[in-house]
Amino acid sequence: ILLGYCVNRVLRQRNELAHHAGYDALTDLPNRRLFDARIEQAIRRHARKGSGQLAVIFMDLDRFKQVNDLYGHANGDKVLQAFVRSTQAVLRPEDVLGRMGGEEFVVILPRTALAQAQRVAQRIGDQLRQLEIVLEGNNVIGVTCSIGVAAITQRDAHNPLELHLSFADHALYQAKAAGRDCVRLYQDPGR
Ligand code: GH3
Ligand code: MG
Ligand code: MG
Repeated sequence: ILLGYCVNRVLRQRNELAHHAGYDALTDLPNRRLFDARIEQAIRRHARKGSGQLAVIFMDLDRFKQVNDLYGHANGDKVLQAFVRSTQAVLRPEDVLGRMGGEEFVVILPRTALAQAQRVAQRIGDQLRQLEIVLEGNNVIGVTCSIGVAAITQRDAHNPLELHLSFADHALYQAKAAGRDCVRLYQDPGR
């Protein structure tokens, strides 16, 4: 019985370690490394099967440094967790949300065209704007995010992952430049 107990414990600890290696401790989302692998997988499947389009949504919380400065880092962490819950509620089970680092997040949406992904992005923004986040000390605050959206056509699926992400990131940059709390699309200049 004791041996069984020990074996169980070791196995459980190994599972936890394996989990920690791929997941972000704060949000429990796949971290950059695991997420990259998942996206590569989705893109390969996409290239093989030609299952319509694959969309990428890039999100960055607006003026998040101010939240930390005004309310402290622990409350900033709470806001990140609230953002993730709010965003997950908008997504389908097959969409994969990942944390790129800091206050930047990406969603990969299988079988989704650009216009459809734009509506999802809009809903993510709407949902977040309506959210009242209760902080320690009973302050209630709201936050917004800027969003960039890009679609990966089957023709472009062979391109490196970094390129696809950079398109969505480029659109996100335009959302920031346009005043934040909005959605911008990446329009391929070649077509
Ligand atoms: P912008 O609207 O241009 O995106 O402004 P911003 O303040 O959101 O952007 P900036 O890049 O200046 O600041 C990002 C901040 O996110 C700074 C950093 O301290 C904070 N941050 C990054 N990771 C974490 C985290 O895990 N927890 C907390 N609380 N803060 C974090
Ligand atoms: Mg940022
Ligand atoms: Mg930011």
